[in-house]
Amino acid sequence: MSEIRTRFAPSPTGYLHIGGLRTALYTYLIARKYNGKFLLRIEDTDQDRLVEGATDVIYKTLKLVGLKHDEGPDIGGPYGPYIQSERKPIYQKYARELVERGGAYYCFCSKQRLDNLRNEAAKNNEVFRYDGHCRNLSKEEVEEKLQTGMPYVIRQKVPASGTTSFTDELFGTITVENSTLEDGVLLKSDGLPTYNLANVVDDHLMKINPVVRGSEYLSSTPKYNLIYESFGWEIPRYIHLSPVMKEQGKKLSKREGDASFEDFYNKGYLKEAILNYVALLGWSPGDDREFFTLEELEQAFDIKGLSKSPAIFDINKLRWMNSEYIKKLAPEEFHEMALPYYKEAGLPPEINLRRISSLIQSRTEVLNEIPDMIGFLKELPEYEAELFVHKKSKTTLENSYENLAKAINVLKDLLEWNEEMLHKALFDLIAELGVKNSLVLWPVRIAASGKKVTPGGAIEILGLLGKEESMKRLQIGLDKLKKSM
Ligand code: GLU
Repeated sequence: MSEIRTRFAPSPTGYLHIGGLRTALYTYLIARKYNGKFLLRIEDTDQDRLVEGATDVIYKTLKLVGLKHDEGPDIGGPYGPYIQSERKPIYQKYARELVERGGAYYCFCSKQRLDNLRNEAAKNNEVFRYDGHCRNLSKEEVEEKLQTGMPYVIRQKVPASGTTSFTDELFGTITVENSTLEDGVLLKSDGLPTYNLANVVDDHLMKINPVVRGSEYLSSTPKYNLIYESFGWEIPRYIHLSPVMKEQGKKLSKREGDASFEDFYNKGYLKEAILNYVALLGWSPGDDREFFTLEELEQAFDIKGLSKSPAIFDINKLRWMNSEYIKKLAPEEFHEMALPYYKEAGLPPEINLRRISSLIQSRTEVLNEIPDMIGFLKELPEYEAELFVHKKSKTTLENSYENLAKAINVLKDLLEWNEEMLHKALFDLIAELGVKNSLVLWPVRIAASGKKVTPGGAIEILGLLGKEESMKRLQIGLDKLKKSM
């Protein structure tokens, strides 16, 4: 078997789509698995869709997640250039050669003529297809038009009859009637190729095998193969990947915040967690293992585990996986990651941030939710007295009032304010009263935080707030209770 060379060939759109990341990952893994080469090729021939800085986003993201390419625009390689807009003369040469070989032809149809055909088709509710008007121009006619400088495109000359088949490694054998394929444009009037030509020329010249890409290209692959055949080139192996969807029939959308890798990353999903989750979108290791580092994926990946059905992107599953990755971080690492969010939350300067980190690490699912989780430490939120009533803790407004008053009484005299002393004071009180812990701890925690759910319990929260702020809050809670009874 010849060397395995795969490529990731994104169009620079300004962000890396989750589905694109998955394609990149599988493509990378296939190369690694067989000690092959992984190439990056930038497909920027659609000049209308160019976005400033978009290529840098691709380099940055691949680097960030660790998908290191062996050849590519930024590092070079023996088959460059690896940016399609820099390969213009190559496509022009091959487009002309394809004409010579009878696989393509010059088309001089004006925009006007094509628009008319398009309108006509729309009127009759038909799909527009080029009618082959220029297909049979003689060599002389073509020469003459070229001489006068008439604008042209080069179109593929698809055989009028017969069928074209190929076998995809995942989807099996696909056969299409040639009569259903259009004489699509290969070289545009601006001299740049369409995907139809560029993918074939580049994959051939860059010795790509297998070609791994999204299944949206499955149905047009026979057309590309006709081009390979016209050139007399060997057709590569194909592995088309099923799409990643939000739900059946619904795409992920950048606008709704669930399509772009960067958006997730910036929200505080760890890159390792995203990559791990993405690996499982359409691939399974064959057992119930779920956690993989990139190195582990390199070992475990096998195309046999790829699925043909669309993968459903489940944000809750990603959240869960992210929280598991967060739990596994070393405390120091988590603390470093959390710091910017503490800043965002605007906590008072004297607060013990390390203690907060140790309290929230195991309950953080996504880092950007930290300010919300701990915002109550900065400012006591508005809350209703009803929050003191909790069936499971057996608290009522009345007993909360009583026990909170007693807690205030013992806490106000505490000389040293730390968790140890707070613990002792409150548990001595609980023992003295002979009540369930929650009868005292629940109202204290509610008054200290104003929230039903908090990271940490009453003692930790009081410890973080310090004496002055704690006593103020406990008193507010007591007043609230008094008013409500
Ligand atoms: N440039 C194409 C895209 O971004 C991918 C083409 C390919 O993988 O062959 O959709």
